[in-house]
Amino acid sequence: MLNQFRRDLFRGWLSAQNNTPVDASSSYSEDTTLIAQWDSPPPDLAIQNLPEGATIFVPRGMQGAFIVQISRDRNIPYVWMIYDITDSDAVGEPFIGRPIIGTSFALFSALVLPTRRYTLLVHTHMEEGATEALALASVDIRSFDVLGVAIEPLPDILSVPEGGLVVNIRSSNPANTLLEWVLRDLDNNPDGDIPPHLRYQEIHGASFTIPHEDLPPGNYRLGVRATIRGGVPGEEMWDSKAFRVGAGYPEKILIDAGHFGDGNTFTHTLDGVTFTYREGRRMWVLQEMMLDELRNIGFANTQRIRNSVYDRIDTPHSITDGTAQQRNFNDNRNRGLKAEGFDLLMQLHSDAATNSSADWAVIIYPMDNRNDSRTLGHSIAEAIRTTMGLDGTSSVRTAVNANGLESFGLMRGANEADCPLYFITENSFHTNPQSAWWLMQDENLRLLAKAYAEVIRNWFRG
Ligand SMILES: [Zn+2]
Repeated sequence: MLNQFRRDLFRGWLSAQNNTPVDASSSYSEDTTLIAQWDSPPPDLAIQNLPEGATIFVPRGMQGAFIVQISRDRNIPYVWMIYDITDSDAVGEPFIGRPIIGTSFALFSALVLPTRRYTLLVHTHMEEGATEALALASVDIRSFDVLGVAIEPLPDILSVPEGGLVVNIRSSNPANTLLEWVLRDLDNNPDGDIPPHLRYQEIHGASFTIPHEDLPPGNYRLGVRATIRGGVPGEEMWDSKAFRVGAGYPEKILIDAGHFGDGNTFTHTLDGVTFTYREGRRMWVLQEMMLDELRNIGFANTQRIRNSVYDRIDTPHSITDGTAQQRNFNDNRNRGLKAEGFDLLMQLHSDAATNSSADWAVIIYPMDNRNDSRTLGHSIAEAIRTTMGLDGTSSVRTAVNANGLESFGLMRGANEADCPLYFITENSFHTNPQSAWWLMQDENLRLLAKAYAEVIRNWFRG
């Protein structure tokens, strides 16, 4: 049955392709197309490297492309076809088919969508009516980009709903793409108590507002979904964020990456590999992940101080006058002043020491131990120690100058802003090559961000 289907399909494909121009440099020609056949045994053919889980960049308006290596022992014409088997292993209508040109590889370009499953078939052309599938492979292309759609970086939930949940996204939203937001109730069944008119809405432009007054208190997940109009059926929940409406998680949290730009650069050679650690940039990555993790667990009102790793804060205290040390102090003091109205400020660092084996966490907490901040500082230190696998004993301390003021600019500003909890955290030492290498890995910073978020949740919610 299936073979009959494929034979019919291939005949139809041949009749449609006979007038298709082909690459003149290849050996594929009208002549060989129509007369190719072989003596026994049939050609040996294999698909060697169909990408699995690969991330493929799809330029806007283009088709998803991927390269597949094909081995074959005879240079005769082939055709490849792709079938969508997401919902069933049964092979249905192919949605694309092209001749394969060349002897060892082919660039396949097809209308593919993420989170769907496809089978790639390579057929060789035998005598008319005797087409066979000689090689069969299926691949999960979950991480392929959505065709022709660029939604980036991700929808950003800016605040706990007060008069409406304002969501900004960046999206090119081309004419052939439908963007929608989708709301899920995490406490009940998927559509739960969400009024029907709030479950799905089309998105026009770069921001939208969900009138949250109609939502019962609870936990929700907001997604952005892209659908290609008039194209291959399929859709993708592009990104989603959890948030909470009503009581709980009202705390405002401020995260800051220490330094700026390439602040504090250190080059190591570890196991023959030379790498350069840049504290300002790595802590920026950690900051962004912490924003993401905290918002995801319901601290929707988590913010950064600066818009870019290159920004400094120049008011109210000048960062153009005085020594470099004074300018740096003032930049940080200005950042600390931004903590007014926030419940927690945390500035992220990695430490430096002449002893390259130093590998412990250092936490600076408010000099007056306000709100038992030392206890929270110990929890943060322990989270860093266990996540990074550090041997050294953590140091949780205050930093006070001779005048009885906070020594560090950030701490001084946060104190002046009367922030109830403020910290500088040193995530081990970038002068330690193992710690620096650990902090170079994004997946490690993700673990650290999750550990921080868990400590913060336990502090406020535990
Ligand atoms: Zn630092």
